Amino acid sequence: MNAKPIICYPKEKLKPSNLKIYQEAKKNLKVINEVIIPPRDAKCFQVKAGQFFRIENIEGPQVGDLNLFNSDNLDEKFYSGKTRALHGTHISTGDQMWSSFPYLRPLATITKDTLDWYGIDDDGGSVHDVIGTRCDPYTEKLLAGNDYHYCCHSNLIRALAKEKNIKTNESEKYIHDVLNVFMCTGFTKDTHQYFMKASPTKPGDHLEFFAEINLLGVLSSCPGGDCGSEHSSDKAKCYPLKVTTFSTDKTNLKGWSSPEVSAYNRKHGL
Ligand SMILES: [Zn+2]
Repeated sequence: MNAKPIICYPKEKLKPSNLKIYQEAKKNLKVINEVIIPPRDAKCFQVKAGQFFRIENIEGPQVGDLNLFNSDNLDEKFYSGKTRALHGTHISTGDQMWSSFPYLRPLATITKDTLDWYGIDDDGGSVHDVIGTRCDPYTEKLLAGNDYHYCCHSNLIRALAKEKNIKTNESEKYIHDVLNVFMCTGFTKDTHQYFMKASPTKPGDHLEFFAEINLLGVLSSCPGGDCGSEHSSDKAKCYPLKVTTFSTDKTNLKGWSSPEVSAYNRKHGL
């Protein structure tokens, strides 16, 4: 009962990120694309390996639900659970977004977080979580009995279906648990239940990433707005989000190379 907690995956064993290289490379960034994500909707964006992208709050406090794929192979996608196991419940500068099995490599590294001052509040809450899943119409139906069509799950499905010219049923198979950008969440101390509270984010706040491989991002402006009251409805005040993609000269990335997929031999004991 009083056994000492042991960190399952000590961070020291993770390959050190190339944060210094990225900070140098950021001195010469060139804007190459901008995408505005309207409230209660999602859009796709492409980022090449070696480029940066930034998710920004532009008009008011707004939470974003992010899916990330290898743009050359949609089967390799963001793995929220393993990212949580490796980096903790909320991620910030220096942490990486890891891909699904059997690939397990960093898809992106966070290079800047204007909300890093928030830390962990008295309720155990923090921002940018990898503990929530994504708001979805099935749980809404289960708990409230409604058919609501603009949950992040559905927004992501529509955006990916349009981008890849596939049916929604097929698109749905690719949609996965998200990084909850700007969302302030935690677990209650007494019952360990998932909670959310109004995000501290303001216009101008941004979370910036370095693309470790060629990426397809899909970002939803959550119908919960700042997620300070409820989601999965049209009641909360919602704002657009902006995604900006930046390129840097290859010469600024000396010492960096795109990570390989896991070297595990996949024999699984057979
Ligand atoms: Zn949502």
